[in-house]
Amino acid sequence: MRQIVLATRNKGKIAEFERLLAEFATDIHVLGLADFPDLPDVDETGSTFEENALLKSREVAEYTGLPAISDDSGLCIDYLNGDPGIYSARWAGGHGNDLANIEKVLTQLDGVFEPDRGAHFTCVVALSFPANHSHFPEEVIRMGQLDGSIVLTPRGTAGFGYDPIFQPLGYDLTLGEFGFGEKDRISHRGKAMREIAPEITRLI
Ligand code: IMP
Repeated sequence: MRQIVLATRNKGKIAEFERLLAEFATDIHVLGLADFPDLPDVDETGSTFEENALLKSREVAEYTGLPAISDDSGLCIDYLNGDPGIYSARWAGGHGNDLANIEKVLTQLDGVFEPDRGAHFTCVVALSFPANHSHFPEEVIRMGQLDGSIVLTPRGTAGFGYDPIFQPLGYDLTLGEFGFGEKDRISHRGKAMREIAPEITRLI
């Protein structure tokens, strides 16, 4: 079996990535950061999604000695000039407080109506190799985007993050109202992962 490390502790993301990769190759075993408990946290100090994704994939490849893939994603709102962007997880201060983040965005858009509530999710995935790999120092970056708009009040309990206030273009439902697995088909992360999967199966 070939091996790759996905730079996340999120089991859901690993399972989703495994399912996707299996459409392209069945001889790849996906490891996660939980398999390397001593690996230090990588600070996301970059100023773009690309920089942050590369910081993580490089660090994890170097530390584990295996090809590594990482993703960095966020919500970009037109009216806020692309914010919260790379700050999506900590928009309201503390890291990962979804309710506070949603509250802050809705307050910032108070009094703003369609068609000025446009937004998109972006996901950048990066693949890096360790120094002993035949493809080092090659790197691969792919992007996925999901266009939509920010609704006036949160709807639905599925998903995470900003899902309850994001309505994809062409849908009457927020991502929070999507059924299990439906989001994978259209999501920014799904698109980026599907773009990079053939490169992974070719290069690792
Ligand atoms: P990460 O790069 O996947 O950790 O995502 C950073 C932050 O962006 C998350 O904490 C969420 O606030 C937001 N985000 C990214 N992807 C999604 C999504 O699919 N739905 C809702 N929020 C998302």
